[in-house]
Amino acid sequence: MSNENILLALSNQNTRHWLENSCLGPAGYQVMTTSSWEGVETALQNNPPELIIISEKLRECDCLNQVNTLLDRYPFLPFILLPEEHTDNLGFEAFRRGFSDYLHPNATTDHVLLTVECSIKKGKNREKHIRQLINGDLNSLNQKVVDLETILGIGRKLTSLLDLGDILSEVLNFAVQLTEAEEGSLLWLDEETGEFYMQASLNFPPELASAFRLSTQDNPLGQVLSTGKPLLINEKSPKKIITSYLVHSIIFVPLRAQDQVIGVLEVDNRLRKQFFTDYHLSLISALADYAAIAIENANLYSRSEVERNKLESILTGVEEGVIVIDQDMRLILMNPKAREFFDIEDAPHSGKRIGDIIDHPDFLDVLREKRTSASRTEITMDDGRVMNTQLTPISEIGVVVNMQDISHLKELDRIKSDFVNTVSHDLRSPLTAILGYVELIDRVGLTNERQKEFIHHIQTCVQNITSLINDLLDLGRIEAGFDAQNEVVSLASIVQISVDGLANRWRSKSQKIKVNISEDLPHVLGNPVRLRQMVSNLISNSIKYTTEGGKICVLAHTEEGQIILQVSDNGFGIPASDQAYIFDKFFRASNAPSHIPGTGLGLAIVKGIVDNYNGRIWVNSQMGEGTTFTVVLPAMDYEL
Ligand code: ADP
Repeated sequence: MSNENILLALSNQNTRHWLENSCLGPAGYQVMTTSSWEGVETALQNNPPELIIISEKLRECDCLNQVNTLLDRYPFLPFILLPEEHTDNLGFEAFRRGFSDYLHPNATTDHVLLTVECSIKKGKNREKHIRQLINGDLNSLNQKVVDLETILGIGRKLTSLLDLGDILSEVLNFAVQLTEAEEGSLLWLDEETGEFYMQASLNFPPELASAFRLSTQDNPLGQVLSTGKPLLINEKSPKKIITSYLVHSIIFVPLRAQDQVIGVLEVDNRLRKQFFTDYHLSLISALADYAAIAIENANLYSRSEVERNKLESILTGVEEGVIVIDQDMRLILMNPKAREFFDIEDAPHSGKRIGDIIDHPDFLDVLREKRTSASRTEITMDDGRVMNTQLTPISEIGVVVNMQDISHLKELDRIKSDFVNTVSHDLRSPLTAILGYVELIDRVGLTNERQKEFIHHIQTCVQNITSLINDLLDLGRIEAGFDAQNEVVSLASIVQISVDGLANRWRSKSQKIKVNISEDLPHVLGNPVRLRQMVSNLISNSIKYTTEGGKICVLAHTEEGQIILQVSDNGFGIPASDQAYIFDKFFRASNAPSHIPGTGLGLAIVKGIVDNYNGRIWVNSQMGEGTTFTVVLPAMDYEL
């Protein structure tokens, strides 16, 4: 006995009554009835029937159209049309609108029951079939999602590896797992012989793997190599697809590095008669794409490692200390020599703040102040060694610091200075005597013109030697720090005295000197003789190395507790290649005219004085345009 629910939506009450009580009810069906379309909608919501028998009109409603629309929402629900009156094309119209059957108004009980049973069965079968289809699709979709997630996970894992060997063996494992293949291999191309060999293999007999060699000519492997496209081959009976061994099914996928096929990933089923599908092919292709990225990464990494090792061996071998620091003052690298200079035992980690690694205030000050432009400084280490420290900024990296131990040169310099001082000192008395006696010659008898000329020559030469000796002795004293009698000095007066003292010289060359000293310029604590020597040497150089009618300017002002003194001119300028050496003793720039006398000691004296007052001096110069010397001295910290 059937007990399906049937809804009778019929306008004719008699027909409804007959079907319910005399036909369907006694046959065991649950029968609901309605005479309106609203009744149909309500039944569908509250107690959906398995079948609806409906007339072509319910009150004013055209049921053929309504059913047609309703079937979009209930595609499995069968409708049987039972019109009040039969017309020829009504049945045809009903089928066109999606009704599952048609009952003649005069149909017999048997005919009705048969039609109802068939429609319900048809509806159920259709539903079952479609659900099976959907379930099948869902399962395969689910499987695909799982596979894709696995591939993604594999991709993440592969691209995080940096060792080529690890990558290749993982690729092989994953390929065999994903396709449930019996075995797999990585076939690599031997550039020399043009043959493929097994770079790695999984589940292959070792003797086969090690002996495997295959030419790229006339076989599917060569095809993969030349086209760069993957290949899937299925054979009904096992075949020697690539001559060495028999397989039922095999996939070849190219592996690329820098857009070149460097090898082929292969999976196969040798014994099991199980075929790979296009889906397997797409899985392995996706895996190969990740493998290509991972191989590229590993190659780049190993290349950069090789370069880094090379650089490290060079830096380890050099006798200079080398430190590279980034723009945020964090360490990039430090060679063993630099570690030795700063007495650092273990190699510090790159990325650490340099202040946390090196505890040397002078070095850190130099870095902080000078790291943006190339410069050279001498730094005394805690053990007394003196380092020539060169800073070279490198854009987008930071700064490279080179340190050479120049303690032995310093010692040599000291011995030389001592010697020069002694000799200069010993020479001064005889020279004074020579000058005195030469002056007396004139007084003790008549001298002719030639003799006068010779005497003048002797005087000039002796004066030059005396001034050189005086400079040397001064320098010796300054370097030894013998000028400790410091007093409070007004730099403005010093400048004025110097300008006045040199008036004969700048006037004789028709030069103009502009002095601009800010009124509130603080005083300096220093030796007035030395400060005057410093200012005079700078102005005297400007006079010497500027042509007739040139302009010289002396400026002084305060900035953040420091006095800035500038002496500038519009003279010859100093070649850029000479600028680093002009404070060295006896150095004269390559463009210094030979007829202009000079010892090359003036600027060394100036630098010595500036250093003694913890100041700084530098030069800016453009050939043919002029030169500016800038001196920075600490201002005195109290009001007079
Ligand atoms: P010198 O006794 O030769 O003047 P200094 O030590 O005073 O020695 O100067 C060193 C060199 O620097 C000079 O020989 C000269 O070539 C160059 N120099 C110094 N001052 C100037 C300047 N104002 N203009 C151009 N060149 C200068």
